[in-house]
Amino acid sequence: MRKINFVQAIDLHVHTKYSGDSKITPKELVDQLHAHPFIKGVAITDHDTIRGYEEVSKLAKTYEDILIIPGIEVSVENGHLIILGVEECPKYPSSIESVIDFAKERDGIVVIPHPYRELGIGDISEDIEADAIEVPNPHATQEENKKAENLARKINLPCVAGSDAHSLQEMWRAYTKVDAKQEIEGILKAIKDGRVKVATTK
Ligand SMILES: [Zn+2]
Ligand SMILES: [Zn+2]
Repeated sequence: MRKINFVQAIDLHVHTKYSGDSKITPKELVDQLHAHPFIKGVAITDHDTIRGYEEVSKLAKTYEDILIIPGIEVSVENGHLIILGVEECPKYPSSIESVIDFAKERDGIVVIPHPYRELGIGDISEDIEADAIEVPNPHATQEENKKAENLARKINLPCVAGSDAHSLQEMWRAYTKVDAKQEIEGILKAIKDGRVKVATTK
């Protein structure tokens, strides 16, 4: 079996101030990412907007060491769904199926965030075509994360993680090691293929 080198460390779930419920500014985010010793990638996953991603990616252009992945934490009728690799919002209100189609038509991938926490889609996850499950989520309880882990095993989906940070102190608490080069397409493919490993920091 090929040995896997997890060369990228990426926080796949961060909110900027454009989420409304987060205090993190795009400038702070870029500075923190540039300063971090090994986490060099982040997915901007604001609630139902791409504005934070647009601003962060513009600011990040001056740095060669960091990668910004576009994402949206989409509000669907039953809770939240994260799409990665997509630079536009779906129409609202959106059903889970329409968001998944929307993401796939644009070569994006679909992550089910915090399935058993508040605003998680729960057992519905078993009946949809997602690409990965978020576990652990630092805001979920141990029990909720355990249930999410069992779900991922049951439906055979890779686990990915992000901090779900809404403040600077919360950033990087959970992240994903990815076996890919530092470019978006390869990273999304590695996630789909399960060449990922989740990690947490203290
Ligand atoms: Zn959420
Ligand atoms: Zn979130």
